[in-house]
Amino acid sequence: MKILTVLGARPQFIKAAAFSRAIKKHESVEEVIVHTGQHYDKNMSDVFFTEMDIPLPKYKLRTGGKMHGAMTGQQLEKIEEILFNEKPDLVLVYGDTNSTLAGALAAVKLHIPIAHVEAGLRSFNKKMPEEINRILTDQVSDYLFVPSMSAKKNLLNEGISEEKIFIVGDIMYDVSLFYKERMVKPEWFDSLKLNNFILCTIHRAENTDDSIRLSKIFEGLGLPDKNIILPLHPRTVNKIKEYNINIPENIKIVDPVGYLEMVWLEVNCDLIITDSGGVQKEAYFHGKHCITLRDETEWVELVEHGYNKLVNFDGISDVISSSNFKKIEFGSIYGNGDTAIKILDIIDSFENNMSH
Ligand code: UDP
Repeated sequence: MKILTVLGARPQFIKAAAFSRAIKKHESVEEVIVHTGQHYDKNMSDVFFTEMDIPLPKYKLRTGGKMHGAMTGQQLEKIEEILFNEKPDLVLVYGDTNSTLAGALAAVKLHIPIAHVEAGLRSFNKKMPEEINRILTDQVSDYLFVPSMSAKKNLLNEGISEEKIFIVGDIMYDVSLFYKERMVKPEWFDSLKLNNFILCTIHRAENTDDSIRLSKIFEGLGLPDKNIILPLHPRTVNKIKEYNINIPENIKIVDPVGYLEMVWLEVNCDLIITDSGGVQKEAYFHGKHCITLRDETEWVELVEHGYNKLVNFDGISDVISSSNFKKIEFGSIYGNGDTAIKILDIIDSFENNMSH
């Protein structure tokens, strides 16, 4: 069986690490990777392929740095051409980026089965580009691999038939378990001379593209007695410059880090503050409380358990200081860390049945 994987953004490289490792052990499955180039900086792309041992993409497109329509359109056109040549048995897409949607659209029009990993997540906020990408991708997918029961319910509510939905857990848990053993302290860490710190990431458009909201976030994070390490996404760097935002002294801005360093920071921090989907779950996987800088989250279970708090930009400093979270009891909210193998087994058995 030939699987063609379409990826293009940081969280997808990280998820692909687990799946590609499972595929390598499977003799009858061949994987062809298409990298759309949605993320292209070295520290947003290449570093993950090198340090996480992800097979190099056979196709590397250059569709990054464009508006949503232009980017998705170009990806669609180029992926279609590749699908014609490669004739895969299945197209696999992850998550909710433009590359996810373009991969799914190109495949469905050529009648190639589609597997969507991380299906069924919803913020119910259609202003988020990610939400549109998710809904449309789920509608055209044949295998919807969901991390939890709540994601399955979302799909059923949208009329997707139950036999296409598989609860397999969260593939990022597989990744967290594997790389925790291999985590690396960032070279610059000791020079900061910090005894304790809060880890923070900010990159989501709803925060970065609103100058008032982004300024208020930095104001709220400016607590002199709390050291904050902030590996900063290129989009946020540009916006800080554009809006001329002053960074409080307690915040140490660093370049985006590789995954092994990110895990080290997550494991060694006191608290995580983020607007990232992936980082919210990693906080839980590594037993850390999380403050999510958003009005809603797709990972509702963590909020329901009291491990994660959604904070509007106005209340950030109060929540950081009060820190009344529930103690994290580690159960398998998102599976057992064998999601990649489960996905591969399901695809393999269904596709084999169809070819016989
Ligand atoms: N990440 C990383 N280096 C960083 C910041 C994040 O390796 O400097 C990882 C993080 O551990 C998580 C993933 O990137 O696995 C999350 O990606 P991102 O926040 O870009 O996207 P989202 O999860 O919100 O879709």
